[in-house]
Amino acid sequence: MDEFKEPTRGEQLRKALAYEKKNGYDRLLPGELEAMEDYCTGYKQFLDAGKTERECVDRTIALAEAAGFRPYTRGMELKPGDKVYRANRGKAIMLAVMGRKGLDQGVNIGAAHIDSPRLDLKQNPLYEADEMAFLKTHYYGGLRKYQWVTIPLELHGVVALKSGQVVRVSVGNGEGDPLFTIDDLLPHLGAEQSKKPLGEAIPAENLNILVGSRPLADDEGSDRVKIAVLELLNRKYGIVEEDFISAELSAVPAFSACDIGFDRSLIGAYGHDDRVCAYAALAALLQLGMPERTAVCMLADKEEIGSEGVSGMKSAAFDTFMADLCAGQGVLPRACYEQSFCLSADVTAAYDPNFAEVYEKRNSAFINYGMGLCKYTGARGKSGASDASAELVAYVRRVLDNANVVWQMAELGKVDAGGGGTVAVYMAERDIDTLDAGVPVLSMHAPFETVSKLDCYMTFKGMKAVFEAV
Ligand code: MN
Ligand code: MN
Repeated sequence: MDEFKEPTRGEQLRKALAYEKKNGYDRLLPGELEAMEDYCTGYKQFLDAGKTERECVDRTIALAEAAGFRPYTRGMELKPGDKVYRANRGKAIMLAVMGRKGLDQGVNIGAAHIDSPRLDLKQNPLYEADEMAFLKTHYYGGLRKYQWVTIPLELHGVVALKSGQVVRVSVGNGEGDPLFTIDDLLPHLGAEQSKKPLGEAIPAENLNILVGSRPLADDEGSDRVKIAVLELLNRKYGIVEEDFISAELSAVPAFSACDIGFDRSLIGAYGHDDRVCAYAALAALLQLGMPERTAVCMLADKEEIGSEGVSGMKSAAFDTFMADLCAGQGVLPRACYEQSFCLSADVTAAYDPNFAEVYEKRNSAFINYGMGLCKYTGARGKSGASDASAELVAYVRRVLDNANVVWQMAELGKVDAGGGGTVAVYMAERDIDTLDAGVPVLSMHAPFETVSKLDCYMTFKGMKAVFEAV
């Protein structure tokens, strides 16, 4: 055994004064490895069940109802501990667990988004070229087009018929389903394409999905492959070509969520941004008993295209839901907002040693260092950021540390290297104190993104701590 040695003055000062970052694996509590695995198993199931915002809403409702939540109707009387939800047009959803305190004391909000970058079908998508059938797409969200060719794709969405009937489409994630793909040049003929910048090598109008090649039998007319595809669609879904006009169909990567690494410490999947935070907020909310302050989970649509539209975070749907809850207690919604706190739960970029040049290492989020807090997002001189106050960041440090959450500060990348935004600014505009926080992601917006299990679990723990804060 070593004899006890008095720490040197330098050692004492370092311990007392310097900010030391530590890998989350060196900070886990007993039993947390198992809890983390259990949590991530549920998360992977959520990912596989929800490849679009509509499917995520469906899955959320199923989980919420199993946990005792009821659909909220205007005027419904609520008491502490009551659990309710309201879906917004099937694409966004708000859930609440009523707290002991009145709504005049404010609420704790966890806000995330459930839309992810993908390829939407155009409204007149189907065509035949040289006896192959394709679907035209219009990409949704900020994606790097070269990443979306030569990967297996599924097709999800709805076709709304003139009759008012809505036909659900999901091809690719069922047992024995066919898949789709977008072709690319072979290297043998790709010399000219290879000289182009990455952003130009695959033009958006080349993102055409291959959906068939077998011509209609015993026919001498035109577009025999396309007609044969239409016949299949008509048989399966009862639709005709014109029905694409009122359809929302999205091509999404046909990857199931899976463990990554010999040590299984990571999860690879489509749509971590931002279902990884949406699930964290939801799972935390579902576990609440009777919180002090009312807890609200907001899962928004359209974040990837600017939070626009009736189902985005800018929509009054959130305000109407809050106003309805407040009306039940005779509280002004704005008076509730000004006392409220929102954790805008969205992913941030994980430091990637393979692309170190775009990161500023001292202020980047690292894989396995826990939930990443962003005081501000935005671009250039913090443009587009809500920039949370110092007091608010201190509040969150306190809440997270008291709950033993492993967290870190995060900034997207080097100043002027790029930038991004979240729903935070739209919450802050409502006079709600808001801070960004979320899971660091490798290859964000790629068809296959990677996160660490530890960071997923810590974001769930952080979300729970926020909901339980008094
Ligand atoms: Mn996001
Ligand atoms: Mn995003």
